[in-house]
Amino acid sequence: MSEMSVTRELFDQVMVPNYAPASMIPVRGLGARVWDQEHREYIDFAGGIAVSCLGHCHPVLVGALREQSEKLWHVSNVLTNEPALRLASKMVAATFADKAYFCNSGAEANEAAFKLARRYALEHFGEHKSQIIAFNQGFHGRTFFTVTVGGQAVYSDGFGPKPSAIDHVDYNDLSALEAIMSDNTCAVVMEPLQGEGGIISPDVEYIKAVRALCDKYNALLIFDEVQTGVGRTGALYAYMELGVAPDILTSAKSLGGGFPIGAMLTTSAIAASLKPGTHGSTYGGNPLACAVAEAAFDTVNTSAVLNGVKEREAWYREGLAAINDKYQCFSEVRGKGLLLGAVLNKQYQGQAKAFLDAALEEQLMVLVAGANVVRFAPSLVISQEDVTEGLARFERAVAKVVQG
Ligand SMILES: *Cc1c(COP(=O)(O)O)cnc(C)c1O
Repeated sequence: MSEMSVTRELFDQVMVPNYAPASMIPVRGLGARVWDQEHREYIDFAGGIAVSCLGHCHPVLVGALREQSEKLWHVSNVLTNEPALRLASKMVAATFADKAYFCNSGAEANEAAFKLARRYALEHFGEHKSQIIAFNQGFHGRTFFTVTVGGQAVYSDGFGPKPSAIDHVDYNDLSALEAIMSDNTCAVVMEPLQGEGGIISPDVEYIKAVRALCDKYNALLIFDEVQTGVGRTGALYAYMELGVAPDILTSAKSLGGGFPIGAMLTTSAIAASLKPGTHGSTYGGNPLACAVAEAAFDTVNTSAVLNGVKEREAWYREGLAAINDKYQCFSEVRGKGLLLGAVLNKQYQGQAKAFLDAALEEQLMVLVAGANVVRFAPSLVISQEDVTEGLARFERAVAKVVQG
């Protein structure tokens, strides 16, 4: 295997063309730095896509993976295992929830959440209660159910008949939600800060009103915290700073710090609807993933790391404001903690990808959130030196785009 020449061209030959990766191929990472095949070094302000919450190859995660890799990898869910039970105990102790379900991705966590909400409504209220309400621009994953609940039809169109009884309204528009909600509503699904949709925060009063509407109509409130969870916004979960708890919460991305895992959390009363045989996963809750996630969860769920996120947010906001003073390309920087979006002003509409490409040329990895927002989702423990150096690179990239 090792003598095979692996180039970017090989991607076009052997991979399904659903992605269009950049020309460089990363081969190694440490902390917030990544190196490519040519030994060029990059600063990572992307964290994969908001995944690598402790940077690359964090010693605590490497240690947990190594230790578990020599003990037990897989036993199936015919049996349970120690890392899964430890992780579940810690997650329920730290949140509103009583019960956890493990799977391998954000989409799978949401798939489980939506199936549970439907089953719960069916058991407790009857067949009429099947409506799922979600939000325009929302994102919940790429399985057919989750992508249909997501708020961009362009991602769910073109695959034949869709799962039904799913409606969308505008985020932060209470009267639109009120108008469409009824006793037929089974669940309202929302990101407590829209990520892929453009880094959009909910109004505090709005989110409280959504909770009240769910209570009024006996609908479950599902928070998709796949992107916001595990420290990303500076709280363990974003809901904790919104004054509103959901009935079901989904977590993935940062949860494994780069190792695939997803989780759904809920209360005992709701969890009771997923009886033996109703849902499952071959790999879900496997000892390797749970051991790494336990280490990530323990490391992030400390006041040192969570307060550090808020400190780092200030470094980014100051640095981006200084860049904007010079180049005037952003209308605002929004988001929370280390999930930030620099919103392009009128002059640069639709050009977020150009900023991303220019940054990569300057050896900096950033993300976009739609066509008008440059997104930052770095390691939660990134050093000040890496932030400063990365912002200097970003400034050079901005200069290039602005100067055409
Ligand atoms: C990334 C994301 C998902 C999908 O997670 P996968 O692991 O890619 O399936 C779902 N919801 C939100 C809010 C996300 O950001």
